[in-house]
Amino acid sequence: MSQTAPNIGFISLGCPKALVDSEQILTRLRAEGYEITSSYDDAELVIVNTCGFIESAVEESLETIGEALAENGKVIVTGCLGAVGDTVMQNHPQVLAVTGPHALQEVMDAVHAHLPKPHDPFTDLVPDAGIKLTPQHYAYLKISEGCNHRCTFCIIPSLRGDLVSRPIGEVMTEAEALVKSGVKELLVISQDTSAYGVDIKYRTDFWGSRPIKTRMTELAKALGELGAWVRLHYVYPYPHVDEVIPLMAEGKILPYLDVPLQHASPTILKAMKRPGDIEKTIRRIEGWREICPDITLRSTFITGFPGETEVDFELLLDFIEEAQLDRVGAFTYSDVDGATANALPNQVAEELKQERLEQLMALQAQISADKLAAKVGQQMTVLVDGISEDGLLLARSKADAPEVDGVVILDGVENAEAGDLIEVEITGATEHDLIAVQHNP
Ligand code: SF4
Repeated sequence: MSQTAPNIGFISLGCPKALVDSEQILTRLRAEGYEITSSYDDAELVIVNTCGFIESAVEESLETIGEALAENGKVIVTGCLGAVGDTVMQNHPQVLAVTGPHALQEVMDAVHAHLPKPHDPFTDLVPDAGIKLTPQHYAYLKISEGCNHRCTFCIIPSLRGDLVSRPIGEVMTEAEALVKSGVKELLVISQDTSAYGVDIKYRTDFWGSRPIKTRMTELAKALGELGAWVRLHYVYPYPHVDEVIPLMAEGKILPYLDVPLQHASPTILKAMKRPGDIEKTIRRIEGWREICPDITLRSTFITGFPGETEVDFELLLDFIEEAQLDRVGAFTYSDVDGATANALPNQVAEELKQERLEQLMALQAQISADKLAAKVGQQMTVLVDGISEDGLLLARSKADAPEVDGVVILDGVENAEAGDLIEVEITGATEHDLIAVQHNP
């Protein structure tokens, strides 16, 4: 490696979608011959990929930029916060450049302007799959940018614009390269996976010489041929989602669906500007379970949205009870700068939002504990993630997405390392996790 390659520091904040942007920037930087360093002292310039989704993320992003300026002095800012008016410039006028999210070329232009690229790029040293920030054995596959919905609590459409789908040939080529480089699990992400391709009228594209429509079902089928685990995130429960359930039953993709529902009261769903027919959602879930009985369903909910009454909250609890979802994430509502929900009347007191969150999570914890207890004695394949900070060897089953779901704690397993798929028998369960021993047939 060259002694003279310019060094760049990189800080990545925010969600998996921001992480994918970071990976693309890092890949390009390495392809052009820049070195990446984790030390402010060694860096000749620092890039901060920010998040602007909620108030605490804005604060974290601004603090990080401040730290990078104090420690290094030459800072380029990209990501969601860069798209929120001139927040960054007002707080930190010394930054060299600010871009919004998904702005690879603009970031590279700013880098070139302040730290010229070396003459002899190490293009051939960059693996086909690019530089990944996730562990080597799983990868996020971003299939689109932006969103056509206008949920009142969300500013993503104003930050990232309407839905723009990546052509399926490009997505499949990336997925294939990732699997070739050793990735065992592909996590499909976007703002709305079920809308994939709608903006380009499901145009037929080519994966190699094979024509495929840019559409969720076709994508799931093609990804299912690569031999890796394929997990679908952020899927709205539209009727055509039913088409991917048989692929799950046949073992082509993981029997796992992440369906962000946010609430169950028709009044609140309407105020959120989200599809409101929760009865249909229940029927749809029943239908999915008939086709694929071991499907794992994950969802997220918000408590204390403006106007949420005791009756609305009871409807949400009733839904949680009836739907018996496997995994649930929940948050209290908070205003986001620029969101239309901020102006809604009847804001809920902070204490009550928190109380409702705890009530919801207690109910779900019981459902989760019962579901996991029913798995004791089962044999299954798990994907080893590695050793935790407490020295435990951790893995995940098909029912567990990284970061957001539970884990399988491996008891007495030796000779297994991150990325291994091993057979285990479940010996115990807690509220969110399983305990397992290696199964030797
Ligand atoms: S679906 Fe709603 S919450 Fe999700 S990104 Fe689109 S507008 Fe935001």
